[in-house]
Amino acid sequence: MTSIPRLRDGDRLVLASHNKGKLVEFQELFEPFGLEIISAAELDLPEPEETGTTFAENARIKAHAAAQASGMLALSDDSGLCVDALGGDPGVYTADWAGVPRNFEHAMKRVEDALQAANATSPNQRRGYFNATLCLAHPDGRDELFVGRCDGTLVWPPRGERGHGYDPVFMPDGYDITFGQMAAEAKHSWAPGQQGLSHRARAFSKFVEDQIAKD
Ligand code: IMP
Repeated sequence: MTSIPRLRDGDRLVLASHNKGKLVEFQELFEPFGLEIISAAELDLPEPEETGTTFAENARIKAHAAAQASGMLALSDDSGLCVDALGGDPGVYTADWAGVPRNFEHAMKRVEDALQAANATSPNQRRGYFNATLCLAHPDGRDELFVGRCDGTLVWPPRGERGHGYDPVFMPDGYDITFGQMAAEAKHSWAPGQQGLSHRARAFSKFVEDQIAKD
């Protein structure tokens, strides 16, 4: 199957996510491009069940569901925190660890309890990374995937009030502050020719390189 034609100024894209934190980050990332971004919530699209066992599978499920339901191009993001000492957990279950309704203080404590149970006390035993897998899906079934990753160390107690989700316990490599202590631009800003810091910014830079028409 041929790939999706490159996006151009004025094209519309549905963001296949009901997560407000992600939505804000994507709106900021898309700002320099002339694309119209509509959220899944705005179109009242149903949230499909994420039954996949990999980020790619779940990203595909969400993007195809939104593309089918809206008849428009849809972009999804499946992301999560993978902790080495926990065998990659919570991984694709990162959102689930926050329970229903989502409680990220509880989720961060759950990661910390698991690290303590694994005797992971020194920084080199507390390594992990955030993954973001983006899927761009066309209503006719074509899709493309873009993956970004940001490595770092899990800290405790949580630091900072910024960002969302697990940001206050994640200190990216090369920094002595957490995502939760960083300005939004520092965490996920992106500029042509640079890959950005966050997993989402890094996946987004691949998306832009590949999908946005330059002429
Ligand atoms: P998804 O919506 O199924 O992709 O779940 C992603 C989970 O990972 C959610 O619980 C998010 O809060 C968490 N997550 C993803 N990206 C970030 C981030 O940049 N900072 C903090 N938590 C994140």
